[in-house]
Amino acid sequence: MKNYHTHTYRCKHATGEVVNYANAAIKQGITVLGITDHTPLPDNRWLGIRMAIDELPDYVNAIAQAQAKYPQLTILIGAECEYATEYHSFYLEELLGEWNFDYLILGPHFFPYQGEWLASHSDILCKETLKAYTNYLIQSMESGLFAFVAHPDLFGITYEEWDQHTEACSREILQAAETLNIPLEINGYGLRKPYIHTKSGTRPMYPWLPFWELAQDYDIEVIVNSDAHRPEDVGANIDDGLAIAKQFNLKIAKFDF
Ligand SMILES: [Zn+2]
Ligand SMILES: [Zn+2]
Repeated sequence: MKNYHTHTYRCKHATGEVVNYANAAIKQGITVLGITDHTPLPDNRWLGIRMAIDELPDYVNAIAQAQAKYPQLTILIGAECEYATEYHSFYLEELLGEWNFDYLILGPHFFPYQGEWLASHSDILCKETLKAYTNYLIQSMESGLFAFVAHPDLFGITYEEWDQHTEACSREILQAAETLNIPLEINGYGLRKPYIHTKSGTRPMYPWLPFWELAQDYDIEVIVNSDAHRPEDVGANIDDGLAIAKQFNLKIAKFDF
């Protein structure tokens, strides 16, 4: 089993240090562990859910220490990133360049709408914000910086009912993934969060199955991760995500890092 999406205590809403995740990963039979905490940003924006920029050397060092301690486990260094054009060179030249990160994940947690930044977890309540999320997600994918897109179906947290707008936006995201050749993530963390109750029934906030059902119509690849925020969850729900991929005949991406 492999998990390419793992956090540490530095993001302020996860627990555990890299070595704790590595230790748990070995116990759970994981062979590749990608550490991808929420990226620091050069201007320390959205600091409540990420490390500060001056914690970056310590983050890199913690991963190097775990690599030295557990040579039997492949530990990769990455980050989960919100895209904004002003951070493009930071991601490319500093994280992927100077710090030699193995890969970056696009985590679309914020998007611009009518001159302000909205949160994907709470602000997608109408077709206009859904469309703005979709447009920004695709623009971010087009940056070419990211190995895959984390939880593209995040809009299912607050946009409760599947309708013509979710279908149209999902098709745009899926088409972009096909055109740009970027895998999309079936995210296990959504399966560990409380389910939501809607008019059409109880479901996880994400993965939202109608999205993955539509994915069958596109020549895309998917990746399944636990998105661990606690060491004991390092391999959690990967089997469930793989079952979703199997249910809809989706191809699993193979990475060579
Ligand atoms: Zn997180
Ligand atoms: Zn994450």
